[in-house]
Amino acid sequence: MTEPHAPLPKPDEIAGALPQDKLLAPLIERSLAEAWWRLRFPEPLESIYQNHIARQKWLQTNIGGGLCLVVFNTGAYLDYIGNPGKIWLAVFLRLVVVTIPCALLFWFSYRVRDHRKRDGITAGAMLLIAVVVNILLIIRGSPPTQIAFSMALMVIIVNIVLPLSVVMASVASVGAVVITALFRANYGPLVQGEPHLPVIFVTITCIITLLANHRLDTALRRLYLVLLREQLRGEEVRRENRDLNTFSYTDTLTGIANRRRLDETMQRAWQKAETTQEPLALLIIDIDHFKRYNDTYGHPAGDACLRRVAEAVAGSIRSGRDLAARMGGEEFAVLLEDCDIDTAHLVAERIHASLAATSLTATAGLFGEPVTVSIGLAVTYPFSGGTIEDFITAADSALYIAKHRGRNQTCTGSSAA
Ligand code: GH3
Ligand code: MG
Ligand code: MG
Repeated sequence: MTEPHAPLPKPDEIAGALPQDKLLAPLIERSLAEAWWRLRFPEPLESIYQNHIARQKWLQTNIGGGLCLVVFNTGAYLDYIGNPGKIWLAVFLRLVVVTIPCALLFWFSYRVRDHRKRDGITAGAMLLIAVVVNILLIIRGSPPTQIAFSMALMVIIVNIVLPLSVVMASVASVGAVVITALFRANYGPLVQGEPHLPVIFVTITCIITLLANHRLDTALRRLYLVLLREQLRGEEVRRENRDLNTFSYTDTLTGIANRRRLDETMQRAWQKAETTQEPLALLIIDIDHFKRYNDTYGHPAGDACLRRVAEAVAGSIRSGRDLAARMGGEEFAVLLEDCDIDTAHLVAERIHASLAATSLTATAGLFGEPVTVSIGLAVTYPFSGGTIEDFITAADSALYIAKHRGRNQTCTGSSAA
């Protein structure tokens, strides 16, 4: 039974889960300042980098490895020319011993989470090719030019085309040199009088290609650092903008919406209600005798009272649909979309009841009196005419009436339905 696939994460999935830039930013700066030839970032940057490039490396391994196997198999033509009698053995070695296992290893390496192990699989596949190339050279008795060509091609592919780390590429390269040396030691020189030629040739090719691999790796790492730094900076700016936006629409004392947010929401709700022909309701809420409250208990207690009233108001509305805002001073507003007069009255009653139930009543009320509010209520149908100013004035006038009728009550504005 095959286990469920666990594909390597996509770069944008990793970007979304990046740890706090407060932690990463100094590591990025430190890594950029470090010697250019360093091939490891401090943790957790190294793990993030490896995760980020894992998918891309896996794709490159499959493309580069596929190319390598195609090139490798075209050598069957040389096997045939060199020794037609052994062509089936050569084909068996190329296809069954090398191509199929290597292709499967490359493809399924995406299940291997550890990047060192993934690189190890690729390096191991390359060493297998090195062994088989040497065996094939013996079978067909190829001329030295073909040996040089085969080995050089293999080393170039391993060290440059495949995205192997410098360490693993070095392991594969040393392995290739050792394998070549062992074969030559056992089977004698390919060119009379030049016993070390293949080993020297492979060694030089390895050194040159490893230098190229190192240069590619360091360039890729620096590029990654710069891109990651820019990405984090962009996220920081976006976060600051979001915070600024939230800040500019929030009342700092109570944490509910401020006047600016109320005005903008009102504008939008009005336009929407004109189209949908739904009613809009507005409650303007004013704390009764708040000046005396302040004078009696002090300004800080007054602030605390404002916060408790804001809580009571915000807790009495449908969250996400209606808006509770502080208009300024000890005055609050509630905007109710698609709300008729009966429902608006219910909301107003909830606010009165909520305040009556709050601990402000028992402990901090004026001379033992509960903290109360007066509410002016207006309901309107924007599609039938009128303006936002009329609407607000209607609620304001209703509040004025509520104050004059003795406070702690709700009155409905004259323009209300
Ligand atoms: P009424 O019942 O008629 O509304 O009387 P009132 O005393 O509540 O109304 P008035 O407008 O005379 O007083 C409002 C008081 O609200 C005056 C001011 O000191 C107080 N106030 C306004 N903003 C704040 C604030 O942010 N914090 C505190 N603690 N008090 C505030
Ligand atoms: Mg007032
Ligand atoms: Mg007042």
